Amino acid sequence: MGEIRQEFLDIVTQVRTHLEYQRALGVSVVETVAASPSANAVHPAVKPTVKVQEQSELHKPAAALAGGLSAVRDELGDCTRCKLCKGRKTIVFGEGDPGAVLVFVGEGPGQEEDQQGRPFVGAAGQLLTDIIVKGMKLDREDVYICNIVKCRPPDNRNPEPDEIEACEPFLIKQLQAIRPKMIVALGNVAVKTLLKTKEGITKLRGTWKTYQGIPLMPTFHPAYLLRNPSDKKLVWEDIKKVLAEMEKLRKG
Ligand code: URA
Repeated sequence: MGEIRQEFLDIVTQVRTHLEYQRALGVSVVETVAASPSANAVHPAVKPTVKVQEQSELHKPAAALAGGLSAVRDELGDCTRCKLCKGRKTIVFGEGDPGAVLVFVGEGPGQEEDQQGRPFVGAAGQLLTDIIVKGMKLDREDVYICNIVKCRPPDNRNPEPDEIEACEPFLIKQLQAIRPKMIVALGNVAVKTLLKTKEGITKLRGTWKTYQGIPLMPTFHPAYLLRNPSDKKLVWEDIKKVLAEMEKLRKG
């Protein structure tokens, strides 16, 4: 009985997340149709169950989304939607391949990132880069790296709920534009924001979850690993699962 209740709660959470995702993309009406396997196989951007506003990005074919990331950046502008704008030097939008198969989502820029306007370029960033380059044998430019919030929280504190809420639509649109095949959520803030869960990263890491139909692997944040290096092996276990999925994709 407990399991069924949990399953029901998970479904409710997923439906709510999906609706929030659609709302952030400008969808105002959601039509219900009988479920069909083919509807599930299609990316949410083109699901026929969704009726979209005339100017919505969802209306455009995939090719028209190629410039989607820069449109999202333009829309973000010189953002003053939350109080983080007051202390930032630079908006750290994200960087990497706009068509990346794999997206890493962190928490928010630190001091170095704020200075340079690039994600994960400080000490934790060096560790993430090592994971990507030395561990996964990829180039940093092959993946896309971004954060839950795009401006540095003062003294590197966690972003607050209102700040996350103000910034989340832009992350959603980034992911919509990139259409990755996999997401790695780095640490508690990323995983709790994306999955709308209260469960912590220690419990969630290492098992595949789903974000808007995209497989999502939660793992520890590299800054945590700098403080707890013995847990690097756990992250490597998680990353190996990501690599295995990438290999499956490569083989088709
Ligand atoms: N930590 C993050 O979560 N993101 C960055 O860009 C840098 C450090």
